[in-house]
Amino acid sequence: MDFSLLELVPDAILIVERETGRIAYANAVAEGMFGYRRDELRDLAIEQLLPERFRERHQAHRSAYDAAPRARPMGLGVDLMGRRRDGGEFLAEISLAPLSAEGKAFTIAAVRDVSERKRIERSAMLYRQAREELRERDEFLSVASHELRTPVTALQLQMQMLNRVAERTADGLPDVVMHKLAALERQTRRVAQLVNELLDVSRMRLGRLDLRPESMDLSELVREAVGQLREELERTGSRVEVRCGGPARGTWDRMRIEQVLTNLLVNAVKFGEGKPVEVTVSSDGETARLAVADRGIGIPVEAQARIFGRFERAVSPQHFGGLGLGLFIVRQIVEAHGGSIRLESVPGRGSTFTVELPCRPPASEERT
Ligand code: ADP
Repeated sequence: MDFSLLELVPDAILIVERETGRIAYANAVAEGMFGYRRDELRDLAIEQLLPERFRERHQAHRSAYDAAPRARPMGLGVDLMGRRRDGGEFLAEISLAPLSAEGKAFTIAAVRDVSERKRIERSAMLYRQAREELRERDEFLSVASHELRTPVTALQLQMQMLNRVAERTADGLPDVVMHKLAALERQTRRVAQLVNELLDVSRMRLGRLDLRPESMDLSELVREAVGQLREELERTGSRVEVRCGGPARGTWDRMRIEQVLTNLLVNAVKFGEGKPVEVTVSSDGETARLAVADRGIGIPVEAQARIFGRFERAVSPQHFGGLGLGLFIVRQIVEAHGGSIRLESVPGRGSTFTVELPCRPPASEERT
């Protein structure tokens, strides 16, 4: 018989004598797949090419097949393992067909090593699953933050009304009530801030960060915002110093830039170990720079890039609260303005976040 075609196919081909179960012919691919030379494969019992635990079962399969031999294609979902000479195992798919030659009955088998394919299929499945879970998480975040927004806004309004009533009360309310009110207001603000972070992140994922740029002075914004936050910031023990060389004019979204500053400042005092925090603004007319520097715990080098990602944190939740969204939001806002953010930090010595913003919006730059 001429077997030259069988040398050209990509599968291992084995011809097995039905009566003895021994290999009568093996092609070159079979040599490579099982790690035996062809003369060693010849006359070898076919079960030798299977892991021991499968041999008995295979013999039973073989008897059943021999009783009713027929052409049977690969990939019928039967998981069979091949065994290499070195003991390595691989997942195999096998097609079978009966063959007679020189008055003897044989079975011809094409064997394919599908380990790699199965591995890829499994990774693809895991990847699809992970994507689906992420999508569900994002959808949940979006729905939850929208749902939370309404009662939080109502709570804030009630707080404002209560405060107005307290101010108007002729003899003033007892100190203890005033203290409780102030604490309530702080906590409400904190909840509102967390809900807004979640909302922002959901919006940003959908690419919906609408900027409302206006002509403004970054130095002025920084002085005002730090002034408003000073009391709350300094309650942590950190003194906040502002250094503005002069006006730093540009076209930016005021509320969003304020959000960038607030996030960086809140972090600086949160991780600042009560040491002074310095905010610097400068501009060369083309680019404005805002730097927030603290002398706190610092950030390990391995974490310095990833903390700008969603939900990424470099501290334990037992020691510091937070959702890990602030810096993600900061970077999205800065980049939406055509700017960039840079971090220099030495663990134990402190961190400096530097934001650079083009003074003109990217669109007007294109026109000039
Ligand atoms: P959160 O503060 O809610 O954890 P952020 O996105 O604002 O989220 O910050 C992410 C992480 O980056 C923080 O958990 C912290 O590990 C690290 N980080 C941010 N700012 C500082 C800072 N000034 N000093 C030290 N670590 C910081």
